[in-house]
Amino acid sequence: MLHIDLATIALFGALQALLLAPLLLAATRAFSGIARTSLRIWGTVLLLQASGWVLMGLRGHASDWLSIVLANGLLMVSYAETTRALRLLLDVPQHRALLLVIGAAGWLGIIWFGMVMPDYRMRVYIATLALGIYLLLLVWPLRHALRRGGSTAQRVMLLVLLGALAAWGARLSEMAFRPDAATGLLARSPANTLEMIYSAVEPVLASIGFLLMYNETVQAELHRLARIDPLTGTLNRLALDEESQRLFRETDRPNTLAALVIDVDHFKRINDNFGHVTGDSVLAALAVGIRWRLQPPAVLGRMGGEEFLALLPGTGVAEAMALAEQLRMAVAAMQLVPDAAVSGVTISVGIAAYRPEDASVDDLIQRADRALYDAKRTGRNRVVAAIDDASPVLPGSASDSPQTASNSPTES
Ligand code: GH3
Ligand code: MG
Ligand code: MG
Repeated sequence: MLHIDLATIALFGALQALLLAPLLLAATRAFSGIARTSLRIWGTVLLLQASGWVLMGLRGHASDWLSIVLANGLLMVSYAETTRALRLLLDVPQHRALLLVIGAAGWLGIIWFGMVMPDYRMRVYIATLALGIYLLLLVWPLRHALRRGGSTAQRVMLLVLLGALAAWGARLSEMAFRPDAATGLLARSPANTLEMIYSAVEPVLASIGFLLMYNETVQAELHRLARIDPLTGTLNRLALDEESQRLFRETDRPNTLAALVIDVDHFKRINDNFGHVTGDSVLAALAVGIRWRLQPPAVLGRMGGEEFLALLPGTGVAEAMALAEQLRMAVAAMQLVPDAAVSGVTISVGIAAYRPEDASVDDLIQRADRALYDAKRTGRNRVVAAIDDASPVLPGSASDSPQTASNSPTES
């Protein structure tokens, strides 16, 4: 028969947490923001937890103030802070006041049944209740991980937490339904043994879950940054290609996806007159203005230089023209260059809408690009749509005619 020494197991668990904590705390230097805060809390929590266990293990050897009051206080703080660190990483409200109240109430209850009316069972019930609430506050936001395509790291963490819930549940029901079972911290009852073993491995398991979750958060941030054009904050070429292909795949009816190719007129002159730095800030300000008017599900990205591509799902050519016209007028009205005497910055827009004969999204963009060329050719500060897209598409009527339908500018 396997001999399980609970005291050794508890000591081993505390030792693991004690060794892991400084490693994690040292690692925080490499991180920033929420990641750094949550990792620092996590490292501190491991220290508190290990100290709490060691003190609890000293029951009988040290005073009850240390082995009951301080030990349970440390454990309550560690539970509350674990919950806070994870909720921080999950980007859900931390509810610090609630966490504090649960911990304080639990601690006071334990002090009462430890020092005033000593009752080991009641102490375990109270500690279990508090921990159960903390665990539920963690399990609840993690439930999304169970959806299809959910986060693997969050699933790992969920599993670890559910394991903890199961161990505590087993102990609770053993105490409730088997009053004859041995009690005490190191009682060798089945549920207490299970709980002690799980508590000893949990710091390492939960830390792995935490680091995996943390890694996913960083990866997601890197992924986001790798898809953004740093100057304009719009999608970069890579992301634009991905997004446009996605929107094209999702489109199957004519006139339900519009492409707008937007190019700044005579941008070279802005650079020549005011310098590259001003040119850059004009581009950035322009992008802000366009983004504000083209909200998701519209997709906006920088094709390169001073040329942007907008894709508007569910939009036909007439609606796209009206929108582009508003955009053109809004840009013309913006004071983007430092010298008020110089006429404003204007844009030209070429528009095309999806046609079933488009083999790829490139066909659609090319037609919008040709329409843009016509807008430039016929005077700039104009919105022009590829003519085939402006009229209903009839089978066999596709042509590469350079004809275009245009909105004449009201100014310029
Ligand atoms: P058009 O009306 O025909 O579009 O004339 P344009 O001057 O806008 O077109 P052209 O393609 O001749 O010039 C585009 C200029 O944009 C040239 C390039 O120096 C400038 N440019 C491209 N990217 C950037 C950038 O990131 N910052 C700045 N400041 N200028 C850029
Ligand atoms: Mg230009
Ligand atoms: Mg250009």
